[in-house]
Amino acid sequence: MKVQARFYEKLKDKVHCFLCPHNCVIEKEGFGKCRVRINEGGDLYVINYGEITSLALDPIEKKPLHYFRPGTFILSAGTFGCNFTCGFCQNYEISQSRPPSESLTKEQLVQIILKTDSNTGIAFTYNEPAIWYEYVYDCARLLKKTDGRYAVVLVTNGYISEEPLKELLPYVDAMNIDLKGFSDDFYKRLCGGRLKPVLRTIETAIQASCHVEITTLLVSGQNDTLAEVERIAGYLGAIDKDIPLHLSRYFPRYKFKSPPTDIGFMREAEKAARKHLNRVLLGNV
Ligand code: SF4
Repeated sequence: MKVQARFYEKLKDKVHCFLCPHNCVIEKEGFGKCRVRINEGGDLYVINYGEITSLALDPIEKKPLHYFRPGTFILSAGTFGCNFTCGFCQNYEISQSRPPSESLTKEQLVQIILKTDSNTGIAFTYNEPAIWYEYVYDCARLLKKTDGRYAVVLVTNGYISEEPLKELLPYVDAMNIDLKGFSDDFYKRLCGGRLKPVLRTIETAIQASCHVEITTLLVSGQNDTLAEVERIAGYLGAIDKDIPLHLSRYFPRYKFKSPPTDIGFMREAEKAARKHLNRVLLGNV
């Protein structure tokens, strides 16, 4: 469903979206980089409001969150679109194109959350929740108002501007934030973004007392060096040695054909990260 977007300003014959750090200036009838926000008649609209492409009850460890309500299950929902263009995307079918979707109002989604047995809350995941902002915000607020015991989780690339993030955080209990690499060059070349806004999101969420776990996908030939792992772990350790870091094994997907990350390297990476952090977990091994 298409609704008016938030976080934009009108320019002369364009609109400026400042929901995420891309700060797109969008021509009439044009889309922003995320391909879900369109300038129609000088106003900005989002086309994926309430559009669900995936809905499943997952173990919370699959998000991955290992230190937030462990052993529980969480209803997990995703839509389509992303503000990154990672060539190694593990969910490119929904992030980089538009598969069929079903519409659910915020009331309908909240009812499903409440009626699903053994469910601890809602995780906005599978594709990037930042560019689903209006729906995520509306559902999170309604859920908290209806029954505050249910958790709201975001699984995100962290590429969101400070103002919308701060407005959403009071309704978010936990986040798993991707820290894909530790250089602007990596973010620019492989994801179409920048590093600094992601670090700012991590720091802002932690300051707001949101439970934060971090995931780094170690991609063969791109960021699979001990120096890179140490840079990431060192940065996190300087904030809090107890921040959980998930080092995830890459498998060839989408545009990337290089072989899966070497298992021996994964073990070495875990050891290197443990010099700085108390909680390091390996994923996909
Ligand atoms: S949310 Fe979309 S349209 Fe807005 S700045 Fe980010 S990529 Fe551009």
